Amino acid sequence: MTWPVERRALIAASLKMNDLGLNQGKSGNLSLRVPGGLLITPSGMDYDRLAPADIVFMDSRGNVPDGQRKPSSEWRFHCDILKARPEAGAIVHAHALHSTTIACLRRPIPAFHYMVAVAGGRTIRCADYATFGTKALSNKALAALKNRKACLMANHGMLALGETLDAALALAVEVETLAAMYWRTLQVGEPVILPDAEMRTVLKKFATYGKQDV
Ligand code: 13P
Ligand code: ZN
Repeated sequence: MTWPVERRALIAASLKMNDLGLNQGKSGNLSLRVPGGLLITPSGMDYDRLAPADIVFMDSRGNVPDGQRKPSSEWRFHCDILKARPEAGAIVHAHALHSTTIACLRRPIPAFHYMVAVAGGRTIRCADYATFGTKALSNKALAALKNRKACLMANHGMLALGETLDAALALAVEVETLAAMYWRTLQVGEPVILPDAEMRTVLKKFATYGKQDV
């Protein structure tokens, strides 16, 4: 079996995704870039019953060598995103409660809070709807991720990219927290949206924020 350490890391991240409350049950899926392709969670299996051999290796064109579990039904967007985004090493897709709530309204998360910039831009976009597991969904997710590290997916869930699995999970937590705050704000009224110029300032500050020298 190839990549035993990475397979275990993917299982640990899958369990953490559910423990963090980012996802429920067997929904969602994760991938991790490895030389020559990617490791991806199998389709429709309980995360707490996964063994390293259940994790699927897929080459960068989406071919799966024989004798493995079926890969996640969303292997296309994992494959396509890792191909299009060389800076990403890992992808988390979850049906997180608040992110999905906003995604069911087919709304982006606007600049109601400066932390929206954590995903890389002025808004966190919502990808247009397409059936799960399709190339159409992959195309729409890629479009929503342009210059962004995360997006919502209409009537479905959310996606977060990271250099590592931990970074992708951490970003997913940030997006879910923002979605929860936005949803709560909408219960009371219409939030005040930060101007584009202010978000540009925040985005510039984020280029160095949190990077310690020692
Ligand atoms: P898989 O179990 O096939 O990964 O599907 C879960 C999911 O979230 C589909 O969008
Ligand atoms: Zn899904």
